[in-house]
Amino acid sequence: MLEVNIEACTGCKVCERVCPFGAIVVVPETKKAKVLDNCTLCGACVSACNFDALSIERKAVSEEELAKFNKVFVWGEWERKDGKIVIKNVALELLGKGRELADKLGESLAILLLGKEVEHLAPSLIHHGADIVYLCEHELLEEYSTDGYATVISSVIASEKPSVVLYGATPNGRDLAPRIAARLALGLTADCTGLDINENRQLLQTRPAFGGNIMASILSPYTRPQMSSVRPNVFPKPDSDENKTGEIERVNVNLKPYSIRTKIIEEIISHDEGINIEEAQILVSVGRGIGSKENFKDVENLAKELDGTVSGSRALVDLGWLPHPQQVGQSGKTVAPTLYIAFGISGAIQHLVGMSSSDTIVAVNNDADAPIFKVADFGIVGNMHEIIPEFIKLLKEHKQRN
Ligand SMILES: Cc1cc2nc3c(=O)[nH]c(=O)nc-3n(C[C@H](O)[C@H](O)[C@H](O)COP(=O)(O)OP(=O)(O)OC[C@H]3O[C@@H](n4cnc5c(N)ncnc54)[C@H](O)[C@@H]3O)c2cc1C
Ligand code: SF4
Ligand code: SF4
Repeated sequence: MLEVNIEACTGCKVCERVCPFGAIVVVPETKKAKVLDNCTLCGACVSACNFDALSIERKAVSEEELAKFNKVFVWGEWERKDGKIVIKNVALELLGKGRELADKLGESLAILLLGKEVEHLAPSLIHHGADIVYLCEHELLEEYSTDGYATVISSVIASEKPSVVLYGATPNGRDLAPRIAARLALGLTADCTGLDINENRQLLQTRPAFGGNIMASILSPYTRPQMSSVRPNVFPKPDSDENKTGEIERVNVNLKPYSIRTKIIEEIISHDEGINIEEAQILVSVGRGIGSKENFKDVENLAKELDGTVSGSRALVDLGWLPHPQQVGQSGKTVAPTLYIAFGISGAIQHLVGMSSSDTIVAVNNDADAPIFKVADFGIVGNMHEIIPEFIKLLKEHKQRN
């Protein structure tokens, strides 16, 4: 329950202003905050009180209570592309996985769509698997803000009681999910590479642990909802089914300017991020086997012939030969191109977790026992410095013939 520390409360009314449910009032006679029965324990007032006068005591939830939580939620993150609002691929990928989980649980799949004018995205979300779109439109949700988005999502979670909530592990998702977990005192498993339902209807959250040396299966047995974040490209995007129907439920958003403590003053678009390996369809990826920075010329030439993009292992980033945005793996990006060619990469688990969802993997390594060959569709045992010029020559000949 929500407790007011009467000694600390100054009667400033901030809690009254930020509560999305009108569930806390400052009593005029006492000038102290009083909690009403309709408090959902969403936590918005606790983080807003500047005098630490509010706290939530959460009791262990009984198994019968846990069983009442139902529906799988996905956060429908969108972005602006050429001035248009478009849903992020990771939200669609999570709808695909969310559909599978919801079907196993026999529950509905819902997506939380927050923004100012975002209703036009709803039909496509339904076509990609959502049964319900919770549409939360408000002036103050036009741009992402930690406070605004965490407040609205926490309130929807507190009132709808889903069993599972999934977030994309994007920069904003990594910011948002822990805030909500802290407000609602929930567990959160970050960067999951696998999600499933076990025989006890619990969410089985798999992710690399101890530096990637083991794959840990994590449960949140005592709290609901169970929350996970998943990087882009880990799960495949589901096909769109134009015949699929669903409902759009408009949520009454009660958000006040005081609820948002940050303001976007200026947006500076970085022009350095010309290379986005997460969206590349062909990746020519290199590891320590390249030998020297000078040898990159050949790799770049091959990438050019293939209309591909250069990426690589952490070894090269550590050596300062490749910028970090081009690193594939656990501490880099997760990629899923149609073609991934790995030159001189051994195939450490931390690298494999970032690229094994690629459609076709070709590995070139002079060590026939290199672990990369275990995930490769095609393998060539040999010296990459001899093979790359040969590849370029064959591609040029092929282009000339066609
Ligand atoms: C917490 C943590 C996070 C990490 N995150 C990442 C990550 O995100 N991404 C990542 O990649 N790594 C990551 N690592 C590091 C990872 O464990 C490996 O050290 C790294 O992937 C090795 O890079 P590599 O394969 O290029 O180099 P190496 O392991 O040194 O392999 C080089 C390979 O090149 C081959 N070779 C050498 N010469 C030639 C040649 N002439 N022709 C063909 N083949 C040749 C060798 O046989 C060898 O297999 C992480 C490690 C930790 C502990
Ligand atoms: S915000 Fe804190 S100090 Fe202000 S009225 Fe509410 S409980 Fe009291
Ligand atoms: S916890 Fe949420 S619902 Fe309860 S009083 Fe605070 S802001 Fe309102």
